[in-house]
Amino acid sequence: MSKVLVIGAGGVGSVAVHKMAQLPKVFSSITLASRRESSCLKIAKSVKERFGVQIKTAEVDADEVDQTVRLLEQVKPALLVNLALPYQDLALMDACLKSGVPYLDTANYEPRDEAKFEYRWQWEYQNRFEEAGLMALLGSGFDPGVTNVFTAWLIKHHFDRVDTLDILDCNGGDHGHPFATNFNPEINIREVTAPARHWENGDWSETPALFQKQSFSFPEVGDRNMYLMYHEELESLVKHFPEIKRARFWMTFGDAYLQHLEVLQNVGLTSIEPIYYEGKEIIPLQFLKALLPDPGGLGERTKGKTCIGNIVTGEKNGNFSTKYLFNVCDHEECYNEVGSQAVSYTTGVPAMIGAALMVQGIWKGRGVFNMEQLDPDPFMDMLNTHGLPWKLRNLETPLAF
Ligand code: NDP
Repeated sequence: MSKVLVIGAGGVGSVAVHKMAQLPKVFSSITLASRRESSCLKIAKSVKERFGVQIKTAEVDADEVDQTVRLLEQVKPALLVNLALPYQDLALMDACLKSGVPYLDTANYEPRDEAKFEYRWQWEYQNRFEEAGLMALLGSGFDPGVTNVFTAWLIKHHFDRVDTLDILDCNGGDHGHPFATNFNPEINIREVTAPARHWENGDWSETPALFQKQSFSFPEVGDRNMYLMYHEELESLVKHFPEIKRARFWMTFGDAYLQHLEVLQNVGLTSIEPIYYEGKEIIPLQFLKALLPDPGGLGERTKGKTCIGNIVTGEKNGNFSTKYLFNVCDHEECYNEVGSQAVSYTTGVPAMIGAALMVQGIWKGRGVFNMEQLDPDPFMDMLNTHGLPWKLRNLETPLAF
């Protein structure tokens, strides 16, 4: 029985509290706080209507450490779940250290003025969390998150040695808009337009954004084009499993999405360099975000499925094999259950699972942890029972590319 404070009432925060409300024995009291309390109140109403659970709400600017500290002192939670934006990670970790509260998030810290995806800033908190006797769990979403746990589980149960890892993220859903991103547009476009990087023979190899394309037939979705990208879990996975010779991340994009993105990039609307407009400084990408559909509102009109998983090659007892471990998630089923589309769902459910394992002391430790450092088994069990069941396939051959 634990109190939890969730910060960030967006698409992911909404799913996480809807799922927490279904586990009253684990989460005895849920407080949802965000920059605008109105965002929390909408979610609280839906949770009450769907599951009969009353959650508490509050307003906080998570960039202001003192505001969060005051809220933590008031709520006294067993865990702070950060589902705001990556910009707030360090301020929220500072607030947790000041208040003696464990921390969990789903995305690594990014400075606002530079699209840089690195764990360095958060790993630097290792000693402070360790000395305070507190645990910080980084990246408890799907990717990062489930993909890290998938890797750890495959290594624990199926391989003595892993050679290659490919993470394949497919959103086969259709929301009917000419252009929309399926999670926070600013964070999504920063990620997609960053140069691609993958790990090969002990070093990073960089190629231009969206340069390498392959076609893949995804279970229950079909053939899709996917593009090599950099994704933050590659950094922690090759650190914690240094025997991996090659680690890559692929994401699918439709032609219409890419055409729109190219035009937006060419006219400068994806830039994070400030410009002056009518005497006021604005950031083009933030202006674009204001024009685009709210990802939280896409659920009602999105049809189709996501398929995200890992293809791993390696050896056990002298036998070489290729395994594909994946989850398929249906946008409409997610919407029926919690009122959100599958991209928010596949992130919010693992956030709830990570939180449940931490508040019950099943996952525990002192310091800053990535997901693959913890026992994957209880997390894998909860994925099966809380809406994200997984499947394991043996592939006859490794990927041909
Ligand atoms: P949204 O933009 O929908 O929601 C973010 C919420 O954070 C908003 O409700 C906003 O508040 C709130 N917020 C922003 N700034 C502040 C602040 N200073 N103080 C308090 N609240 C603030 O984003 P998503 O729900 O799509 O994404 C949430 C997180 O999940 C992001 O960090 C994203 O990168 C991560 N993510 C991780 C994935 C994974 O698989 N690991 C996949 C997808 C997303 P308000 O509405 O009150 O103004």
